[in-house]
Amino acid sequence: MPIARSEARPSPRSVGALAAFATVVLSACASQPQYTPAPTVQASAETDPVPGYGDAADDPAIWFNRDKPAETLIIGTDKKRGLNVYRLDGSLRQSLPVGRMNNVDLREGFKLDGRSVAIVAASDRDRNSIALFAFTPGQPDLVDVADGVIATGLNEIYGLCMYRSPISGQFYVFVNDKDGRYQQHELLASPSGDRVTTRIVREFRTAGQPEGCVADDELGLLYVGEEAAGFYRVGAAADAPADLVVVDRVGTGRLVADVEGIAIYRQAGGDGYLVVSSQGDDAYAVYRRPPPNEYVGRFRIGDGQVDGVSSTDGLEVTSESLPPPYEQGLLVVQDGSNTAPRAPQNFKLVPWNEVQRALGLER
Ligand code: CA
Ligand code: CA
Ligand code: CA
Ligand code: CA
Repeated sequence: MPIARSEARPSPRSVGALAAFATVVLSACASQPQYTPAPTVQASAETDPVPGYGDAADDPAIWFNRDKPAETLIIGTDKKRGLNVYRLDGSLRQSLPVGRMNNVDLREGFKLDGRSVAIVAASDRDRNSIALFAFTPGQPDLVDVADGVIATGLNEIYGLCMYRSPISGQFYVFVNDKDGRYQQHELLASPSGDRVTTRIVREFRTAGQPEGCVADDELGLLYVGEEAAGFYRVGAAADAPADLVVVDRVGTGRLVADVEGIAIYRQAGGDGYLVVSSQGDDAYAVYRRPPPNEYVGRFRIGDGQVDGVSSTDGLEVTSESLPPPYEQGLLVVQDGSNTAPRAPQNFKLVPWNEVQRALGLER
């Protein structure tokens, strides 16, 4: 269950170390239980590094360009500086120095000023607010569409993810505070019709510090991580009861704290997979997408054409078919340590067919 927090709570790193130590104690017969074997895949590309050293890159989103799949874009947060937009070859396309953006997500099809746009939302730690941007057709630059500062009233805004109701078609942003509070905001066009604002429609909480989350629009579900404890499933609808059901826990050998980014590989008929960053042992745990979210396996990302990946914060995955080697989709993960050559942090691009092969997943 959630770990009780004291004033002098251990750092996420030491919580991870404690969890790893507990794993050692629980499986004393295994040779290297704190770093369990897992198949390794390789990234095929990496993004340009963020401008500064330190823990800065955090969470990616993927904007699939339906008209020109080769021009699909990756949006990555730099939690010291703003948002960056990258091409599929990893090169920087656009940089927005808009403040300390922590997590980012997007949804297509929002009606703004008579056009259908993709809304990109990010958690702004400078203002404890929700930053809102849009990609508009024929003009794939990210532009600010927030109707002023979208204040949350939270003290330490942290994680963020988006949801679109399959019933009403309404758009929502979930944000959380390090203290465990969750807010569900509904997106609304401003009275003038050309900007976006929000209203809070639901609040709930996790016992310990949350961050990563992802909504499954088709199935009406939200998955929320609790960094030191595990992750949960809850109804995503604004009027759903906020009953958090445990999907998996830290300490099982499948997840090592912190539990960080969560993403969904979508297949037809509600099928597919959840991918969860097991940050404490540089691995990713995979679960079946439909409840009860049966555990499938785990993998790591080792050295290849580009350096391997460690300590992943945020991640995103798409099942859309992109140019080779991403015909089966693309997994994008934050890399805590960007080497070969040593440089500030960045994001790695992994062909999903590598993960399919490593874990024996059906296509
Ligand atoms: Ca975190
Ligand atoms: Ca690395
Ligand atoms: Ca993070
Ligand atoms: Ca590198």
